[in-house]
Amino acid sequence: MDRADLVVVGAGTIGGWASVFAAAAGVGRVIVLDQGLVGMGASSRAAGIVRAQGGTPTTVALGRWSIDFYRGQAAAYGTDSGFREQGYLILAVTEEDERLGHARVAMQHGAGLTDVRWLDAAEAAEVAGTLAPDGHRGGSYRDGDGFIDPPRNVRAYSLAMQAAGIELRERTAFTGLRTSPDGARVTGVETSAGVIETDRVLLTGGPALRAVGELAGLRIPAGAARHTVAVLEPHEAFAVERMPMVFDLTAGLYWRLEEGGLLFGWSDPDEAPGVAREIDWAAYDRYRERLAGFVPITRGLGLRKIWAATIDYTSDHLPILGPALRPDGSRIEGVTVALAAGHGMMWGPGVARVAADLAVHGETSLVDVTDLGLDRFDEHGRSRVAPDSVALPYPVSAD
Ligand SMILES: Cc1cc2nc3c(=O)[nH]c(=O)nc-3n(C[C@H](O)[C@H](O)[C@H](O)COP(=O)(O)OP(=O)(O)OC[C@H]3O[C@@H](n4cnc5c(N)ncnc54)[C@H](O)[C@@H]3O)c2cc1C
Repeated sequence: MDRADLVVVGAGTIGGWASVFAAAAGVGRVIVLDQGLVGMGASSRAAGIVRAQGGTPTTVALGRWSIDFYRGQAAAYGTDSGFREQGYLILAVTEEDERLGHARVAMQHGAGLTDVRWLDAAEAAEVAGTLAPDGHRGGSYRDGDGFIDPPRNVRAYSLAMQAAGIELRERTAFTGLRTSPDGARVTGVETSAGVIETDRVLLTGGPALRAVGELAGLRIPAGAARHTVAVLEPHEAFAVERMPMVFDLTAGLYWRLEEGGLLFGWSDPDEAPGVAREIDWAAYDRYRERLAGFVPITRGLGLRKIWAATIDYTSDHLPILGPALRPDGSRIEGVTVALAAGHGMMWGPGVARVAADLAVHGETSLVDVTDLGLDRFDEHGRSRVAPDSVALPYPVSAD
């Protein structure tokens, strides 16, 4: 029978980087399973936005760690995820947004992110280049936020996995766990290609994590929803090296440079959760109109490409990082669960590092994971923890 020191389910950015960190921590044989191909879940379809401007001290820490990681990647792995520092402006549209925004900046300063500053509307328009000076009240801004190139990130962790001697098994589905007779401890995983003996398993799956959990006998309140990204044709206003990204937080609309054009993305909070199957053109028209209000130069620009994909989320917008707990609260020793909750580009490396720490050592010093485990959710998937305030407006429930 096959044997591994760690089996990772899912070869997205979380499973991929976690396997690399586990191997670096000295785990011998690491096998990564994917029912499809590496990166072909959410990880290759993301918009790539990366920010340390989180809504809680924990997500600030995950963002900072991840940015440092992206910066040091070339030196550590001889390859990179294409991180470009562009600056990030989180807009306030209403008076209430402004009040909450100032409170958020104070929290971030307290969490050590001292280079976030508040820009008034005129300063914001000046810094963000193509942004109109009206229709908003300025916002919080940080120079060091930026974006990565998601397909390049898939390439980067694939190469790092290969260099670390990790076995990637594509088109191999995880189908269940094997446990000791009393059910207390994992002894192996069942796959579409046979059983692998192991006493350590890391379950990832992004938008499919709930289904992965069901296969393992767990109830994981991870949601999945449509998220759409579009790229507009090139324009001379976007033929610049640097143009800060902007997030219209209330509406869940964001934009950034992309190949001489403008990339923008949105999530529609009024839409029922589920797997993305097609483009919602009525929503496209609505969000384009809103975008044109902020960036008038986009009015009339042609659409170059657009895609709808399924994004992962939780009801409190925070990651899931902790041991596997059955619905009755009993723990399966040796099994760890990890989800970036729709922030796998900005927090991905940090989440993956915490996941590897928990899988290998049972603890981590990167962030306090006390409130990130499955035990924060009730049987309806509601969290007892206050939500992260800087997030796309996903459906309120993860069911
Ligand atoms: C359109 C879009 C835009 C986004 N933009 C951003 C952004 O700008 N910034 C940001 O931070 N985040 C963004 N995200 C979110 C980010 O992409 C995800 O949080 C992240 O990619 C999740 O990584 P993952 O490894 O957990 O999941 P995935 O990349 O989905 O990987 C999970 C893998 O598990 C595999 N799997 C599932 N079930 C099984 C099974 N039974 N057996 C074996 N394998 C299985 C799947 O095949 C898949 O490859 C975006 C997401 C989308 C969809």
